[in-house]
Amino acid sequence: MPTADSWVVVGLDNGGNKNNATVLDADGRFLVSQLFERPSRVTEGPDIAVAALVESFDDILQRTGIARERVRAVGLDTPGPASAEGVVSSRGSTNFSHPGWRNYDFRGGLEKALGLPVVYNNDGNAAALYAHYQLFGAMATERSSISAIVGTGLGGGVVEKGRVVKGASGFAGELGHVHIPMPGLLGEGQPLPTCNCGFSGDAESVASLTGIEVNLLPYWLARYPKHELNKAESIARAAKLVRGYGESGDEMALHIFEQQAMAIGRLFTIAANFMDPDAYFVGGGVVEAEAQFRDWFLQKVRDNTQLKEEQAAVARFTIVPDLDMAGARGAALAALSSIHAR
Ligand SMILES: [Zn+2]
Repeated sequence: MPTADSWVVVGLDNGGNKNNATVLDADGRFLVSQLFERPSRVTEGPDIAVAALVESFDDILQRTGIARERVRAVGLDTPGPASAEGVVSSRGSTNFSHPGWRNYDFRGGLEKALGLPVVYNNDGNAAALYAHYQLFGAMATERSSISAIVGTGLGGGVVEKGRVVKGASGFAGELGHVHIPMPGLLGEGQPLPTCNCGFSGDAESVASLTGIEVNLLPYWLARYPKHELNKAESIARAAKLVRGYGESGDEMALHIFEQQAMAIGRLFTIAANFMDPDAYFVGGGVVEAEAQFRDWFLQKVRDNTQLKEEQAAVARFTIVPDLDMAGARGAALAALSSIHAR
């Protein structure tokens, strides 16, 4: 048997534009403290994208001076939609639009190319796992958490006793498409928000950049006809600018972010009743913001999460840390725990 310090795992975070890589030793220490990004080339199809990941793998070993023989497993995370086993959806997606991706076994393809076991998670689940281990450390396998990560959509994941809950078909933890109650959240005359998934009134229809663009901003701009954002070149452009206004205390922007915080709080209230987690994490651009705004947002989420007294006494509310590195690090943690589980 190799000694504990003789082997490592590698985490590879695959994104729409870039890959990032990290190395984790057998004791759970990250050997890389910064981003090492390279082009992901996913638009060029699976063969080229897998080769790009192999390059990232070789690059991070070279940078850390780790011999390839010391790598026991690799963690891979990608944007969705893919199955729990890392098979890309038959319908493709924004990131995987090249026809070669349909039904492609991304995990298996990388495993073959590297000749090493590869453990797969989607990017939201990987980030959730990293947040969980960062907060709980040695107690991680005794604790549970939920992470809501606000981006173009609403991602995240559910972690129970240190493991990502994946479900029977790999679609557990799809927090964005959980229905939340809308009474008291929507403004007067505000239409029921719609989501790309076909639902109305789910968490992502409010708590996402797409939700701002499609649902929240058109309503609020009509209520604030003199607002500068009415003059933006497009609603998509305006939606991206709302956070900056929020950080500077703009009234209309704060209404929008308050609705997002309410949506996440209501989602967390549902989580409190069916899983009663130890921790509630919020991640994404909205908390990768100026400290005062970030704290205001997190407090609003907490205020809108209805907990029983016993739950409130133990529950922790905090942000997903180091979001740019969370994918690679969470992927590596999943690879490490797969070895410990064997
Ligand atoms: Zn949805």
